Amino acid sequence: MQKGTIGVTTENIFPIIKKFLYSDHEIFLRELVSNAVDATQKLRTLASVGDYKGELGDQTIRVTLDSDKKTLTISDHGIGMTSEEVEKYINQIAFSSAEDFLEKYKNAGNSIIGHFGLGFYSAFMVSEKVEINTLSYLEGSKAVRWTCDGSPEYNMEESTKDSFGTEITLHIDEESKEFLEKGRISGILTKYCKFLPVEIAFGKETEWKDGKEKETGKDNIINDTKPLWTRKPADLKPEDYDKFYHDLYPVLEDPLFNIHLNVDYPFNLTGVLYFPRIKNNFEIQKNKIQLYSNQVFVTDSVEGIVPEFLTLLHGVLDSPDIPLNVSRSYLQSDSNVKKISSHITKKVSDRLEEIFKSDRQQYEKKWDDLKLFIVYGMITEEKFYERAVKFALLKNTDGKYFTFDEYKSLIAENQTDKNKTLVYLYTTNPEEQFGYIEAAKNKGYDVLSLDGQLDPHFINQMEQKLEGSRFIRVDSEVIDKLIEKDEVKESKLDEKEKKDLSAIFDSQLKTRKGFMVQFEALSESDQPVMITQSEYMRRMKDMSAMSGGGNMFGGFPDSYNMVVNTNHPLISKMVEEKNKKLAEKLQTIEESISPLNTEKEQLQKDQKAKKEEEIPQAEKDKLDEVQKKIEGLESEKRVILEDFGSKSKTLKQLIDLALLSNNMLKGEELAKFVKRSVELIK
Ligand code: ADP
Repeated sequence: MQKGTIGVTTENIFPIIKKFLYSDHEIFLRELVSNAVDATQKLRTLASVGDYKGELGDQTIRVTLDSDKKTLTISDHGIGMTSEEVEKYINQIAFSSAEDFLEKYKNAGNSIIGHFGLGFYSAFMVSEKVEINTLSYLEGSKAVRWTCDGSPEYNMEESTKDSFGTEITLHIDEESKEFLEKGRISGILTKYCKFLPVEIAFGKETEWKDGKEKETGKDNIINDTKPLWTRKPADLKPEDYDKFYHDLYPVLEDPLFNIHLNVDYPFNLTGVLYFPRIKNNFEIQKNKIQLYSNQVFVTDSVEGIVPEFLTLLHGVLDSPDIPLNVSRSYLQSDSNVKKISSHITKKVSDRLEEIFKSDRQQYEKKWDDLKLFIVYGMITEEKFYERAVKFALLKNTDGKYFTFDEYKSLIAENQTDKNKTLVYLYTTNPEEQFGYIEAAKNKGYDVLSLDGQLDPHFINQMEQKLEGSRFIRVDSEVIDKLIEKDEVKESKLDEKEKKDLSAIFDSQLKTRKGFMVQFEALSESDQPVMITQSEYMRRMKDMSAMSGGGNMFGGFPDSYNMVVNTNHPLISKMVEEKNKKLAEKLQTIEESISPLNTEKEQLQKDQKAKKEEEIPQAEKDKLDEVQKKIEGLESEKRVILEDFGSKSKTLKQLIDLALLSNNMLKGEELAKFVKRSVELIK
């Protein structure tokens, strides 16, 4: 029997190991099974090159629980270790590398991907004693038993093990009892070891007989040793890809397409990525890509390894070239990771372009599901944008799809305004903005459907990218002004009438926040009163809402224009009615205002000629007095006009109709409107 002290500087490393990565204790099993797989594969390699001439025999790795003895054992038929190797790899190197690892990462916590590198010593996170019983494949070797109870002292003695390979037995400690439960171990094996390249048996298969679950004699193999991504694409059928997808994500719908990655230079990368159907709920679907290193599961969070938008994809990436024991921030600057990331981006866009070119119809059918992903990529990755402009589509309100170039030629003639700006019209809600869309279509315009979650950002980006172009929502202006052409329409109302009308409208808009009266000379067949919302203000508000409402626009109330069509017969009629009823009263006031205005102008003129300090106080007072008189008379006039306005049922009806067309008439107001309408019909 040999006793020794493990070469460590720290007095006792085990308490640290136990505490370290507290939430991730379960990885010990991955580490030990990976070691067993490595040892098995090494022996296979030796056999294949003729350096080992014996039988390989049954190479299944076995994970066994003994609840009475409170042990968990991992045994393999790999190369095993001689006592010198145990001395070297376990007592010296492994321990010192575990120590290094802890020293480096004790504060890094979960930022280390999968916590690779702790290796064999992670067994002490869950054990009070660990035993290694091993026999090297080398002829004439003696079996060795190594035990260590968590202090820096170990025992080494000869053992009676008679078949080559290694058996690691963990005496699970009191705090880690969960690892003596079959379900827990089975769960960990499925998570980390499901695709390891050597068969792993955990217990026996069971079957139901006479209402009872019974063990059969057959090993319960928990892994698929040749997962899909390790096979040649030429040998695989579309069904195989779909099946693999459903094995990974049992509850998800069929994916749209897949990409099989297979690179071995200048870095090693294999994997299969799937385009899921994402529509609008992409938050939930993130982080579905599983990252493997030589078929060992590492993590399902690939942030920092692939560009953000690609985290929406599903599937598997496997690369031993991704450094696994570093923090994520370091990862992003790693040159291999950068290369891998841009390779994946390129593959993804190549694949999309290929499908677009070979089967446009199919591609269009899938566009609604693909859109969010592609738009996200275009907004966030310049490189992807450059490729995607060729195959990204725009959909109009008739459900037709166009590439950017196609759409540009479609609207170039009709939708170029007087400043040579190409105007893209869009709707964010075809139902609510129906009237505006109809009006645009009647004018020969085309309207895009941009109702997606990311479309506001997308619109901003497109305006920056497409020179001389603007995006305008159909309801942000009256139809004649949506795309301004050179034609000017005569207005039937002069400025004085507009001013009166403004006061009349104000009488009913006073109680409604954010409405501004605006006059437009439209055609008689257009609506008499309409509501529009400035593109600029709306966008600022939308953007601020999306970014959590942090900027000044967030606090503004919504602002709308109440557009009065000065050429509509109903408006003319209202003006006539006003004149009939109020002309006399208003005239008297106006006659009093008129000389005052002349006086005011004269006074202002006189004062302008003088320097500020030269104006006598009396003159200043006089101007103030005249001003006040005018204001008094004006407000008298306003009172009369507002009184007229507030009593006008026609006006109320016109405003309500405009609100109704925008889905803005609700509750009590709507009920009153209905009642009033019925009365008007009577
Ligand atoms: P790593 O696997 O990263 O090298 P470990 O601490 O897990 O670090 O293991 C240290 C060394 O111990 C391994 O490199 C290997 O040489 C040896 N070893 C561990 N487990 C086994 C095993 N099951 N069979 C043979 N050798 C093993």
